[in-house]
Amino acid sequence: MADEDIVTYLANIVLASRADRKVNPLEEKAMEYMCQGIGARHGDLDKAIKAVEAGNHKPTPVGRFSDKVRNLEDMIYISVSDGQLPASQKKIILSFGKEINVNQEQINGILDESKRRIKLQRGEMMCVSCGKKIPPTSKYCPFCGGRC
Ligand SMILES: [Zn+2]
Repeated sequence: MADEDIVTYLANIVLASRADRKVNPLEEKAMEYMCQGIGARHGDLDKAIKAVEAGNHKPTPVGRFSDKVRNLEDMIYISVSDGQLPASQKKIILSFGKEINVNQEQINGILDESKRRIKLQRGEMMCVSCGKKIPPTSKYCPFCGGRC
């Protein structure tokens, strides 16, 4: 992607992340990885944040289709990283998805996958049988013996 596309790509994520007006440490960490993942240069993230803070950034798909889908995945991941998806964030994600022809069903798939990844990263997983917190790699629940 071209330099200005990278800034736009990041601004899309920042916009989704800030729609709930909260930034948590997990989001910041995730942003770092996303910057590395797309080869952003030092300062690109700052430019993206400034664009969003200036209030004139609209979610804009950039790059190839695979970049656009990845951008959507990153936006979703960032949005659910605090465990919730408020309407303000959902709106941005749905309209971005529509623009790149990713349907609601596919978005839900990405959402579920993101939630699963976030739980794994936090070292949290809940037993589907008893609801207790269990280590993320468990095959069987240490409390009730249920399959996880
Ligand atoms: Zn259990």
